[in-house]
Amino acid sequence: MSLLVVGSVALDSIETPTHSRERILGGSATYFAYSASFFTPVRLVGVVGEDFPDEHVVLLRGRNIDTAGLHVVKGGKTFFWKGKYQPNMNDRETLEVELNVFGDFRPQLPESFRQSDFLFLANGSPVTQMSVLEQAIDPQLIVADTMDLWIREQHSELMALLKRVDGLVMNDSEARLLTNDENLVAAGHKILKLGPRFVVIKKGEHGAMFFSAHETYVLPAYPTQRVVDPTGAGDSFAGGMMGYLASQGNFEPKTLKEAMAYGILVASYTVEDFSLDRLQNIGRADLDSRLVQFRKMLSF
Ligand code: AMP
Repeated sequence: MSLLVVGSVALDSIETPTHSRERILGGSATYFAYSASFFTPVRLVGVVGEDFPDEHVVLLRGRNIDTAGLHVVKGGKTFFWKGKYQPNMNDRETLEVELNVFGDFRPQLPESFRQSDFLFLANGSPVTQMSVLEQAIDPQLIVADTMDLWIREQHSELMALLKRVDGLVMNDSEARLLTNDENLVAAGHKILKLGPRFVVIKKGEHGAMFFSAHETYVLPAYPTQRVVDPTGAGDSFAGGMMGYLASQGNFEPKTLKEAMAYGILVASYTVEDFSLDRLQNIGRADLDSRLVQFRKMLSF
C-alpha cells in the first residue's frame, strides 16, 4: 500500500543538559518518513529553502523516500526550530522558531501522489491538513497529528478535520487540553466521539495508549538507558506505526497493535542519538530483535 506524509522538514538546534547541536536535520515529516521507510516506500510532501543541504535530500532518497513532493523555494530559508530539554529529558521548551518557507506552505500533492492509500497529516494547521485531504483521491486510511497551538487557535477547523480522519495521534497534554479532562482514559473516549475511529495518546517515556470503540490498551515505551535527544520520538512512533500498517495492507485490530509496538521500537532508537543518526545505523533486523525483547517483557 502506498504511504504519503505531509509535514515539516526542518533544521533544528537542540540543547540537552549535556550536549548541543546546531542546525541538524529535523522536522515532523522527516522523522516520520525515515522511520516508516524501515517497512515500506514513502512519499514525502514538504517545503525547504535553498539553504537546505543536498546531503539531507540524498539521505532521504537513499531510503526509498520519494521526494518529488519536496518543494525547494528559491531564495527561501528552511523552517528552523530550537529546543531545550530539561534534565528529565521529557519536558522541553521552544527557544526559537523561524517559520520561513514553512509559514507559506500550501502543500500541493504531485499528480502521482494523489492516489495514496495511507495518509499521514503530520503536525500542521488543520486548514492545511484539510487542504491535503481535499487533494487526495480515495485514501483508505487517514491519520493526523496535532498540537496545543491548533487546539487553542483553530478549534473549529480542528473539529471539522477530526470528522474526516480515521485516526488521531497526539500527546497526553494535548489530549487533556482538547477534552478538558485530566483522566487520559476518559480523554481518549471523548476524542473518539469527535470523529476518529481510533486515537493514540503518546506519553513519552511512559509509552502510548490506544483507544477504539472496542479496545483500550496501553503499551509501555521500550526501556532504553541511552536517551540522548528525544526530538522526533513522536513522529518516529507515527512513522513506524503507519509504515508497518502500509506494509501489511490492513488496519485490523491485531495489525494495529503490532504497528503500535513497531512505532514504540523505532522511537526507542530515535532517542538514542541526535537527528536520524541512530536510525541510520540500524536495520529492520534490529527492530525485530527489540520486538522479541519487547514481547518477552510484556508476557507474564
Ligand atoms: P517531536 O519531537 O516528535 O514532537 O518532533 C519534533 C520535530 O518537529 C522537530 O524536528 C521540529 O523541527 C518539528 N517541529 C517543531 N515545531 C513544529 C511546528 N510548529 N510545526 C511543525 N513541525 C514542528
